[in-house]
Amino acid sequence: MLRRCAESTDDELFHRLEAQTIGERAHLAETLMILGELHARRAVLPRAFPSLFVYCTQMLGYCERTAYRRIAAAKASRDFPIILELLRTGKIHLTGILLLREHLTPENHAAILARAEGASMDQLKRMAAALSPVPASPPERTRVIAVVEKKAIFGGLEVLSEPGAQSEMPLPIDLALKFRTEHIFTLGEGAEAKLTRARELLAHKFPMGDLESIVEAALDSLLDAVDPTRRKARPDCAPRAPGEQTRRIPEWVLRKVRERDGNRCASVSREGARCGERRFLQFDHIVPWSRGGRSDDPGNVRQLCAAHNRWAWRHAFVTRS
Ligand SMILES: [Zn+2]
Repeated sequence: MLRRCAESTDDELFHRLEAQTIGERAHLAETLMILGELHARRAVLPRAFPSLFVYCTQMLGYCERTAYRRIAAAKASRDFPIILELLRTGKIHLTGILLLREHLTPENHAAILARAEGASMDQLKRMAAALSPVPASPPERTRVIAVVEKKAIFGGLEVLSEPGAQSEMPLPIDLALKFRTEHIFTLGEGAEAKLTRARELLAHKFPMGDLESIVEAALDSLLDAVDPTRRKARPDCAPRAPGEQTRRIPEWVLRKVRERDGNRCASVSREGARCGERRFLQFDHIVPWSRGGRSDDPGNVRQLCAAHNRWAWRHAFVTRS
């Protein structure tokens, strides 16, 4: 099998992967159908399992999360068998079913599932939220919490360990308290869109997109702009001779390219499909600067995601040479 993979062309591998995925979906739909039937029959009880969940984890080797997800989807598809067909044909994924299942009724399920076909995760989350609206935004809440931090004393050095982590070292443990502030508030759609955009733009710096890092970076930028005690003297740009060629892409070109490419990766496949990634964006010289490509021509500059930028570089400098 490994040898066959290594000898296959890209087209053959894509073809096999797509066929494999169709098979996987069919298997999943059938698995859910069987789980649903066994659940309805309470068939695990005579076999000395207290629940289908325990049977799935102990007998089938599912992890807890998979067991929970599959049993929940199996129950939903028992109530609404159309779910099995949607999963089998890939029109909706298991996570989508889990998001919507609690809102499905005999009256609304056909319309909701039809709207969910092909929807993105964000659209599915919005659909689920719209199906159980809350009366008003919950009030903001702030409280100070103390986090216990374990410090193991190791030859005079302090070794920090995660709260609650088990230490294998029989070392004296010092417990220290660290204070953090918990803020609970909701964002309107405008602020949420800004947060999403900041996450995309900072994905190279904070790949996990954790809220604390994004908020701290945003506060740093804000304070740099408005706090007179933080304003740094900006170094003057060195004047350049007119027409001088530099690798650095001037601001007016960056602006034009951003407008044209729409802050999305501009890489286009042979079949004409555009990547469109919004994170990890970089500016790329189409004709490389080292081969005479200009930095001051918007036609020679494009926005690429980091993966396509690396790929374009390999194509220009490794594959062809
Ligand atoms: Zn891309």
